[in-house]
Amino acid sequence: MIPDDVIEQVRDAADLVGIIGEHVELKRTGADYRGPCPFHGGTHRNFAVIPKKGMFYCFVCHEAGDVFTFFMKKLGMDYPTAVREVARRTGITIPERATPAGPDPLEPLFATLAAAADWYARQLRDSAEADVARRYLESRHLDLETVLPLGLGYAPPPPGTAFLDAMKSLGLRDPVLLEAGLLVKREDGTLVPRFRGRLLFPIHDLRARVVGFGGRILGAGEPKYLNSPDTPVFHKGKLLYNLHIAKQAIRKAERAILVEGYFDVLRLALAGVEEVVAPLGTGLTSEQAELVARYTSQVVLLYDSDDAGLRATFRAGDELLRHGLRVSVATLPQGEDPDTIVQRRGDKALAETLKDAVDVFERKIQLLERKGLFASLPGRRRALDRLLPSIRAARDAITRDLYVSRAAEVVGVRKDVLEREAGGGMRDAGGGTPAAGHPPSRISHLDLPAGAEKALLLLMLAGEPWKSRVLEVVDAENFTSAPYRAVFESVVEKAPERLDEVSARVLERLHQEGLGGGSPDAIFESAIASIEADRISREIERIKGELPLVSGDEQLRRVQELQQLVAERNAERPTWQIVENARNARRRGASGT
Ligand SMILES: [Zn+2]
Repeated sequence: MIPDDVIEQVRDAADLVGIIGEHVELKRTGADYRGPCPFHGGTHRNFAVIPKKGMFYCFVCHEAGDVFTFFMKKLGMDYPTAVREVARRTGITIPERATPAGPDPLEPLFATLAAAADWYARQLRDSAEADVARRYLESRHLDLETVLPLGLGYAPPPPGTAFLDAMKSLGLRDPVLLEAGLLVKREDGTLVPRFRGRLLFPIHDLRARVVGFGGRILGAGEPKYLNSPDTPVFHKGKLLYNLHIAKQAIRKAERAILVEGYFDVLRLALAGVEEVVAPLGTGLTSEQAELVARYTSQVVLLYDSDDAGLRATFRAGDELLRHGLRVSVATLPQGEDPDTIVQRRGDKALAETLKDAVDVFERKIQLLERKGLFASLPGRRRALDRLLPSIRAARDAITRDLYVSRAAEVVGVRKDVLEREAGGGMRDAGGGTPAAGHPPSRISHLDLPAGAEKALLLLMLAGEPWKSRVLEVVDAENFTSAPYRAVFESVVEKAPERLDEVSARVLERLHQEGLGGGSPDAIFESAIASIEADRISREIERIKGELPLVSGDEQLRRVQELQQLVAERNAERPTWQIVENARNARRRGASGT
């Protein structure tokens, strides 16, 4: 199996227009390209290549997919061959598999789900029965032209024999349909389609394969939304709706917008806000937060602002904080949801709402303040109980420290008391086990004023000549903490007014704190060593991650490289004593005594 991240890398690097352009004469129209469809053999320009989304779509025969699907459908390749072919063209080397693997045992499920998705989409488009679905979409101001490329479909009402017949005619048997979650077995043993009388949203994995569906009931009935059951390929707590498309936009925008429902995602995407994903009808899980953290360090929550929405907001917020993300909350006007605000007030209102997002902790304080909790002693105690979970959740040390300070300020408790109440040190924020795959807190060691990055900023703020000295050896890239990086840039550019709320507060606190009594020289050297050690650590992690992908001499070479890096890092990160001695020795050497 080719690792998912390699596949992603290949897809991202592929020149979709160039590759499809070898088979189809494409002409640019706006941001997209159009040409005659190579699948149904049309002569009009009904075939669209949409580079921004990394996909193609035919408005006549409705063939759709990404660069790999194109090779599979056009040239009859299987998936791994298509990936290798695209990789070859992009110059990415895919390690040959060590042992020849058989066909993916899950392939029949993917094929079944793809066939079902295709059939459902055709119903929505063509069938007379789907009129109810088309009218429903119209009532929500979504036209067919815009939703069909997104793969929406329609499952006809009971008894649903048409679906069964269609699947049978494709040679798909009951057991695989059951396993794919497309059928359910009644008590009397009969099999019926799981989705009946519903508008269907296909849910994709990161490889853009359909793995399940979310179905909204049309007309009366329960439940309003029905998902696929858990299957070998569908785990609703581990998937996010639209992530297969949004991930590129998320990287580019350096943020993810999290909304509650499928329609919210559609509405935002159609309004041109593409970095949007939604959990699948449940609260945000730890796995989903981890998925988001792969692509960005910043999340904006855009949920309903009623009580239920707020509870969901703060629960999701804490989950994201636990994964070291920075979280802000965009607040919609009363009675609006992301879907309605765009419809009633337009794209601009949406942009304003997102721009006005405030940090999730600050939002919590606002709401507690509005309830008057800070006015009385018991109220303050209750407010604190509401704030502590978020403080404990914050895994990012800076965020956590800011939250402690802010809570101490509004509740009127001493910071050190609050810190103890929140559960000790920065390293193990939350008391919970940090999610796997995250580097440990980078706030480091020695008697630096808590962290190398912070130390360097304090030096810069101490004025010349320290500012120039720091600038000689580090740049913005060295700052892994987003607020610190922002402060660094603002100091370099002398533009503090451009800082966002959180970073501005960080700067203010740095100014208040000052360098303290430490020797600037010692702080400087230690900070530089620590930053270098961090850089080497990241390099080490990168090579470790690549080791399973290479073999033979190449592997040996990497292992040696690894050993050398570990030695280098240890040299950069000795005990404080050794640094002191080394520096003294150097000084003695320099002065020639
Ligand atoms: Zn076509």
